[in-house]
Amino acid sequence: MNKSRRRFLKSATGAMAAAAAPLESANAIRRDNKTLPPEALGMLYDSTLCIGCRACVTACKEANDVPVEQPARLSAWNPGTWDAGEDISGKTLNTIRVYTHGSKEHKDKAENGYAFVKRHCLHCVDPSCVSVCPVSAMNKDPDTGIVTHDPDACIGCRYCVYGCPFGVPQYQFDDAFGKIAKCQFCEHLQKQGQLPACCDVCPTGASLFGVVTELQQEAERRLAARPGDMYEFPRGRLGGDRPTHEAAIPEYESHIYGVTEVGGTQIRYISGVPHEKLGLPKLPDASPSSLSEGVQHTLYKGMIAPLAVLGGLAFLAHRTTRKLQQEEEEE
Ligand code: SF4
Ligand code: SF4
Ligand code: SF4
Repeated sequence: MNKSRRRFLKSATGAMAAAAAPLESANAIRRDNKTLPPEALGMLYDSTLCIGCRACVTACKEANDVPVEQPARLSAWNPGTWDAGEDISGKTLNTIRVYTHGSKEHKDKAENGYAFVKRHCLHCVDPSCVSVCPVSAMNKDPDTGIVTHDPDACIGCRYCVYGCPFGVPQYQFDDAFGKIAKCQFCEHLQKQGQLPACCDVCPTGASLFGVVTELQQEAERRLAARPGDMYEFPRGRLGGDRPTHEAAIPEYESHIYGVTEVGGTQIRYISGVPHEKLGLPKLPDASPSSLSEGVQHTLYKGMIAPLAVLGGLAFLAHRTTRKLQQEEEEE
């Protein structure tokens, strides 16, 4: 490598480090996570109670007027047997997935076992889909905390699709007038005094509706109970009057998913196998929007910082070019 190329690489590395400096200090300028509204509504999903019946998937389709779907490989040989979307999609707002390992014999065991997990919007406390939407088509209700999508305001940019850490919003690509699809926590039913459809039909109480702080206490009670002891699991709504589902307390993982992840979620999960095996990723406590909005607000305050950053980069580029010119003249 000749001398001028070495110098160029050194200067370029210095320039890149200078440009990256604001990113390194991003943590220092992130805003606080937003907080859970006191009466926020949510769901406790207990994977150990889920029997994989998929009543919740069917009820969700009916309540939200979305069509059934089948993977092409199934519909080719036996069309119409089952609504079997493999994941959430533009037509499926909620799905039950299954973790399996080895001989797949033991329910809620990581080794040679299996466990169900329900997948839909987690109604984040500090949602990045709301933060990235340029036209406020994604909104979080200040009282209930429910995150909804307004198709009339949406311009179809799909920023929310890329911004969500759980891959929840889906775009209906197969429709010429496609929209964003995601669980709205059956807000339309709740306004009529009804339960979200998936909680309403769940036979075991695996999907339980309620006030998030009360659901959290219920989750903590279950984790504190002795495995093998009988327990009256509420069904439908926590604190409601439905007959309970009596079953033995299983061996739970000690973590309640959704308390801290990305600043918290209003859907909380407990399970018998580690959450990441159920497709619930390990995520930092800081919400993505606390970081991106903190950086943006700091950089754009009075437009002073962007001008300073641009000025610094221009100076570095100018100095590098001048040095290279001088070296080439000397050689
Ligand atoms: S899970 Fe995704 S779509 Fe749902 S509120 Fe959080 S960021 Fe938004
Ligand atoms: S709350 Fe409603 S929209 Fe969301 S998964 Fe349950 S049934 Fe579907
Ligand atoms: S209805 Fe309840 S038990 Fe059945 S699959 Fe859904 S969450 Fe599981």
